[in-house]
Amino acid sequence: MDEVWYRNGLKFCCQQCGQCCWDEGDYTEVYVEKDDLRQMAAYMDLYPDAFYRRFVKNSEGFDVLRSRDGACIMLRGGRCRVYPVRPRQCRTWPFWVENLRRHVWYGEVRKRCPGVGKGYKYGVDEIEKILLSGEPVS
Ligand code: SF4
Ligand code: SF4
Repeated sequence: MDEVWYRNGLKFCCQQCGQCCWDEGDYTEVYVEKDDLRQMAAYMDLYPDAFYRRFVKNSEGFDVLRSRDGACIMLRGGRCRVYPVRPRQCRTWPFWVENLRRHVWYGEVRKRCPGVGKGYKYGVDEIEKILLSGEPVS
């Protein structure tokens, strides 16, 4: 593996502050995969079709969570109402390829997310695993 700028690892621990759930530029859409849909629907005790009609819309061919009042529709009282089963996109934040450029991480990502720099230090192998698998390390 080529040496990366985060070779000593990166700290992150979600504070469940809801700040990343507000619509903002490139961060507006929350994509919903089939598994995400099934899990969120079950968590809310809804049939997937009913969940889809209420909370999901199609945006340029992709299923995304709807927005309400400038934030993700799942944000209630500043908290995610489906946090344990939130979509993969939310579960893998902030370890996205586009975020793992040094200037982005220490710029937009750190500004947007107070969980960056806190708690558990993810090793470079764990970060690579998240990038490759699209699943967070449990
Ligand atoms: S902004 Fe960061 S700390 Fe806050 S909810 Fe989102 S991921 Fe968690
Ligand atoms: S699903 Fe939950 S964690 Fe993801 S953007 Fe919506 S409110 Fe935030």
